[in-house]
Amino acid sequence: MKIHKAIALFSGGLDSIIAVKWMQNRGYSVHSVFFKAPYIFPERALHYASKNNIELEVIDISEDHIKLLDNPVYGFGKYFNPCIDCHGLMFKKAAELLPSRNADYIISGEVLGQRPKSQRHDALDSVGRLSGVKDLIIRPLSQNLLSDTLPLREGWIDKQDMLSIHGRGRYAQLALAEQLGIVDFPSPAGGCLLTDRNYCLRIKDLKKHQQDTLENIELLAWGRHFRLDNETKLIIGRDEAENEVLENMFRNGTKLQARDYMGPVGFITGNASYETLSLALSIFLLYHPKAPENAAIEIWKVIDKQLTQHTVKIATKAKKELNKDYLISY
Ligand code: SF4
Repeated sequence: MKIHKAIALFSGGLDSIIAVKWMQNRGYSVHSVFFKAPYIFPERALHYASKNNIELEVIDISEDHIKLLDNPVYGFGKYFNPCIDCHGLMFKKAAELLPSRNADYIISGEVLGQRPKSQRHDALDSVGRLSGVKDLIIRPLSQNLLSDTLPLREGWIDKQDMLSIHGRGRYAQLALAEQLGIVDFPSPAGGCLLTDRNYCLRIKDLKKHQQDTLENIELLAWGRHFRLDNETKLIIGRDEAENEVLENMFRNGTKLQARDYMGPVGFITGNASYETLSLALSIFLLYHPKAPENAAIEIWKVIDKQLTQHTVKIATKAKKELNKDYLISY
């Protein structure tokens, strides 16, 4: 008899851990995946997957997710989070994986009524419709409160193995976690970076200037960001770790580093005019408290991550507070 396998949408949160462990515990075969984008990071999911002996495949859906931000069918949440469309896309992407992963249906840890916008009854229906595979979705934690879908009708899974959890409380999940031996799980967290106010300001700025390419969006999670003019932005690392990440990620534009003083690195995206470069240098120098009013800044052209032309310019520190006029977000 064919064993029907599920692909699990795994976020790393308690509900998704329970969904996977519950199904596995009942003898079902489950392949867990995490879908990442420049503002949806896999680290937490990988950590809790490993803590709970769950094998996890990470798949990059950046391009599709960024497109979705243009005009989500069900709009945005409080910030720039199109949660219903996002869930719909993730199910759709999981459905595309079914043949290659020898899987037949998709499960998730969604709980009916847990989130006011994205997990109401009608929202779960909308997610299903957007996915194009509504009839292949099983939500083990709440499935007994939902309509039967193909895996139940066909007997691939037993209705008695499904649960009836609903609402925002966590008692049922905590009891299940104990029953399943899940000891390591995160406390409830917000969402991805699209639910962060500062991050939203940055991504909205890119969209406003029609610069919301993958390359630009990937830089948004690190550093302070300044809008210098319609073409150009300045990014300055906030600490050593961010300097390092930015150095590794920055692909095209201009890199700045003070020649004689310790401090952050800076990056300019786009082609800076002479005036804009001077402005960038003077703001950049403000973040070098030990540097005098005038100091030498090394400037490299960066092409495909390679440092090419190198020049040095003497910059004059901007007036204190001037940086705030250009700061998109801290
Ligand atoms: S918080 Fe972010 S990752 Fe989570 S559903 Fe909403 S948009 Fe998607």
